[in-house]
Amino acid sequence: MVIIVKPNTKEERIQDLIHWIEAQNLRTHVSSGDYSTIIGVIGDTSKLDEDLISGLDIVEGVKRVSEPFKSVNRKFHPQDSVIEVGEQKLKVGHGNFHIIAGPCSVESEEQIISVAKSVKAAGATMLRGGAFKPRTSPYDFQGLKADGIELLLEAKRETGLPIVTEIMNANHLPLFEHVDVIQVGARNMQNFELLKELGRTDKPILLKRGLANTIKELLMSAEYIMAGGNERVILCERGVRTFETATRNTLDLSAVPVLHELTHLPVIVDPSHATGVARYVKPMALAATACGADGLIIEVHNDPPHALCDGAQSLRPEQFEDVARGVRAIRSTLAGLEG
Ligand code: PEP
Ligand code: MN
Repeated sequence: MVIIVKPNTKEERIQDLIHWIEAQNLRTHVSSGDYSTIIGVIGDTSKLDEDLISGLDIVEGVKRVSEPFKSVNRKFHPQDSVIEVGEQKLKVGHGNFHIIAGPCSVESEEQIISVAKSVKAAGATMLRGGAFKPRTSPYDFQGLKADGIELLLEAKRETGLPIVTEIMNANHLPLFEHVDVIQVGARNMQNFELLKELGRTDKPILLKRGLANTIKELLMSAEYIMAGGNERVILCERGVRTFETATRNTLDLSAVPVLHELTHLPVIVDPSHATGVARYVKPMALAATACGADGLIIEVHNDPPHALCDGAQSLRPEQFEDVARGVRAIRSTLAGLEG
């Protein structure tokens, strides 16, 4: 249920209403905009007397929210959420666009530092790199694990770039203390125990869409994190599995406007895992930018043919520079159309 409070209502009257609701075993989510305050009510609202609430002098209207996702729902929070990342408090969402770039996996100090420096010079604002790798085969490189996180932290010290890396097991959380954004990979999108643990942290979470999951399921997974109290969720469309084999996955770009309609959370796109082919990354990165993504996550390697993971889709630094330039051109065209 969403309760729209009349403009200029005194804060203590709003608080009285919130206390009254919470005393009935319900949770609230308050969104204060420039003109009105919206109280989202979460829980079994069937016993709440809708007529009684709409009759209150401070209430402008009451709406039932039929969707099962509540906290992530735009009806609860009409303005775009802006998520702050890292010590610099980089803002993500609501027109604040970021490119996260780096290798699929951290392989060595030399590799991660050199990639970090080159992607920063080309315009990336965050560094990615896997330390714990979810691999289809148990015999493939599984990542440098704790040492990989240490190397990412070193790259952060060298470049100042906030770091983004994937978690696969909640028991590893202590290792992520200085990680700026914790990534939940496609394979763990519905690892609900992991999502609940991340809901108890205050770290920004980059939640990737599962290989065979619907947009609604992605939103329900984000709801798990938010239900635990962590509201800092960034969604990522990374392609879904279809009958098509020409690309690794099929990039569902329509997810971007659909998600923007349904949720206030920022939405970024991963054209690398979506296509699996380096030469397709640029066109899809540009298309994702044009259709309203709040950012991109792109795999870049200093020596793709020898990468330990995902070399075929990894860009060389100079190719990444070209993509970043194209993305800037699209963004300025978009700004011109809006202005
Ligand atoms: C990754 O980002 O390296 C990764 C494994 O992505 P996904 O979970 O989308 O496959
Ligand atoms: Mn990868």
